[in-house]
Amino acid sequence: MKTLDIIVPVYNEEDCIDKTLERLLNLKETFRSKLKVNFIFVNDGSKDSSAQILAKYAKEDKSIKLINFSRNFGHQMALTAGLDYSKGDYTAIIDADLQDPPELIYNMYEKCLEGYDIVYGKRLKRKNETVFKKLTAWGFYRTLKSMCNLDIPTDTGDFRFITKDVRNAFNSMREKHRFIRGMIPWTGFKSAPLPYNRDERAAGVTKYPLSKMLKLALDGIFSFSFKPVEMLFALSAFLFIVSLIVLAGAFFFEFEEEWLISFVLVFLSSVHMLAFGILGQYIGRIYDETRNRPLYIVKDTINF
Ligand code: UDP
Ligand code: MG
Repeated sequence: MKTLDIIVPVYNEEDCIDKTLERLLNLKETFRSKLKVNFIFVNDGSKDSSAQILAKYAKEDKSIKLINFSRNFGHQMALTAGLDYSKGDYTAIIDADLQDPPELIYNMYEKCLEGYDIVYGKRLKRKNETVFKKLTAWGFYRTLKSMCNLDIPTDTGDFRFITKDVRNAFNSMREKHRFIRGMIPWTGFKSAPLPYNRDERAAGVTKYPLSKMLKLALDGIFSFSFKPVEMLFALSAFLFIVSLIVLAGAFFFEFEEEWLISFVLVFLSSVHMLAFGILGQYIGRIYDETRNRPLYIVKDTINF
């Protein structure tokens, strides 16, 4: 019988784990005659009792596997570890908070059998999320799409179902700044969306504060696009032409307005700072790539 590994990243989710596991174990039943299901929980350095709760479940059921990180390495690294440890014919990724309904993994499997290697959940509605979160997410996915040559689906998180071939291709990509919802489409395998309504969190609060959201957004843009430097290039060409016109104007009309000069100086120095900032983003990423550090550190595992 073919196998499916379901990867669940966990960071301080002690209030969700019981409910999530109940739904996941029901899903395992649904798959009973089709696929053998294993769960790979990746505990991303939780400070609450998530690790203990998961270890208890893992001791009772060999299909519940656990990877404990030495500290919090972030959601994308937790997924990376899950994908590295996954050995199944298929792999699915789902959050620990039941915002993505686990039952849909069965629908993803059916869609996959129609001849797709990647089936990704596409969010139609998001229940009970702040206007700020909805607006920033809406804006981000559209900005990213306009900046990248690659077709990264909009309104799509990491909730998805992939075949072994996609997983192997993904696992060969060892870059340090990881935007997985862009890296998987990059592999180029045939993909299809599965539209769904995002539920509210089963319990607890988001583990994605603004700082983590911003980091993920920057990784998405700077890892997949040279548009920021291309835009700088276009801006510098534009400013060069403007300055030529101003110079010619000053020569022919002899105007000496101090405010104009100070305005131009302030404007130019802010453009310079922006340029340094953008270049710094790329250079920092090059620096990170050249250090040969592992992507994450595993403290211990259960049932592998
Ligand atoms: N998560 C993680 N490491 C982190 C932050 C989050 O493993 O540093 C997990 C979290 O436990 C959840 C998933 O990633 O399973 C998505 O996080 P969350 O639901 O807080 O994000 P949101 O849905 O609010 O964007
Ligand atoms: Mg969530």
